[in-house]
Amino acid sequence: MMKKQQLTIALSKGRILEETLPLLEAANIIPAENIFKSRKLIFDTNHDNIKFVVIRATDVPTYVEYGGADMGIAGKDVLMEHGGKGLYEQLDLEIAKCKLMVAGLTGAAPVEGRMRIATKFVNIARQYFAQQGCQVDLVKLYGAMELAPIMGLADRIVDIVDTGNTLRANGLEPMDFIANISSRLVVGEPAMKMKYRQIQPIIDMMSDAVVKRREG
Ligand code: AMP
Repeated sequence: MMKKQQLTIALSKGRILEETLPLLEAANIIPAENIFKSRKLIFDTNHDNIKFVVIRATDVPTYVEYGGADMGIAGKDVLMEHGGKGLYEQLDLEIAKCKLMVAGLTGAAPVEGRMRIATKFVNIARQYFAQQGCQVDLVKLYGAMELAPIMGLADRIVDIVDTGNTLRANGLEPMDFIANISSRLVVGEPAMKMKYRQIQPIIDMMSDAVVKRREG
């Protein structure tokens, strides 16, 4: 019999994690302890060859790209911003759904000439405005993007919108749609070559769980 290889799955900390664990459980991969009550970064599972690493969402593609983890779960926003090099997107998990939008102060007039855009998604924003034929200057921020137009730091922001409550609460409104976002399962190039026979059944089981969830 073929020896089972070690498999490391990188999970995004935060809001995605809660919705991710039931899908992994459907593939019979269950953490050995409560991830939410621990400060650990590496978790054993019910399989002695499978481990989770729980890291910042933006670090998941990097770990998977370089083989620090074999597969990972991250939002499409994070994957688009990373660029996807060395990653194979295998499955849309249909969780943590939201939209990437351009937003600005409610009722703001169109900007004449070069717009200044504040965002943490500078690569996505650069690509989007280039496609629109718009000349923009990008300002990288790490959080609270809504503040930028209020303080006169930027004309528009590019940010994630779910209910729109955060924008509204700060006197902003969504203006242009960039992309629909949900969490995706990605596999790295090294694992794709060396471990796919072991990974494929996991993907199949998670895919079944996604369909079941969709059908309620
Ligand atoms: P909302 O007020 O419901 O529009 O939520 C907007 C804020 O919640 C955004 O600024 C994001 O930081 C965060 N957010 C909402 N949904 C997601 C998601 N699926 N993934 C990551 N962040 C999200």
